[in-house]
Amino acid sequence: MMGEMTWPDYKSRVEKGAIVLVPFGSTEQHGYHMCLGTDSLLPTAVSRAVAEQIDAIVAPAVNYGARSQPKSGGGNHYIGTTSLSGVTLIHLVRDMIVEFARHGVRRLVLMNGHMENGPFLAEGVDVAMRELKLEGITDMTILKLDYYEFTSEETLKIVFPDGFPGWALEHAAVFETSLMMSLHPGMVDLSRVREERLANFPPYDIYPADLEAIPPSGALSPAGSASVEKGERMMKEYAALIPPAILKAFGL
Ligand code: ZN
Ligand code: MN
Repeated sequence: MMGEMTWPDYKSRVEKGAIVLVPFGSTEQHGYHMCLGTDSLLPTAVSRAVAEQIDAIVAPAVNYGARSQPKSGGGNHYIGTTSLSGVTLIHLVRDMIVEFARHGVRRLVLMNGHMENGPFLAEGVDVAMRELKLEGITDMTILKLDYYEFTSEETLKIVFPDGFPGWALEHAAVFETSLMMSLHPGMVDLSRVREERLANFPPYDIYPADLEAIPPSGALSPAGSASVEKGERMMKEYAALIPPAILKAFGL
């Protein structure tokens, strides 16, 4: 954990070519039953598990994220959902990448846990890479991944025996709740899950948001079938599949 290291220790690890992982999350409602930090806690846990296996460094997480959207995070109107504007996030990512590069990091992984961050992370990477190129730094490689994309078809069938609703509707639902139950049981209260309807959104976005389309709890599909076992299974899979994918992508 970079935040627990001294600078000389960090420096010597970077000089040896260490991979740096940066968890990206949000501060966002996760229903009545789960905490606002869920999107940051999960990629941080995955990063830790991955780092242990490939001797990587986990940088402090970015605990605020891009504006929550109704179809993937319930929307920005919930009290506690505390978001960044897209331009702020782009500049934050750009500044961080340039700093890591300036200190000698050449292999950086952006480990995302909040879907809405995606395009802004991509833009921040692009702006940073252009800037680094102008400065003569052309040997930096950056990976951007949403950790849940590493869930296998087999696991999806076990975790969602009645059908997988898609990652966007899995906000505060079975997938995130199961992972939180296995990693941070004290931050989940299953008795507060409301078995509401699955969110049913039209194939467009409307502004202002149609609050009738969003389940009042803020969870986009029912989390009642979440379990510790499902969480452990997914976590085990991320720990097994993500490290080799990272090494392969970096040509190691
Ligand atoms: Zn989430
Ligand atoms: Mn989110």
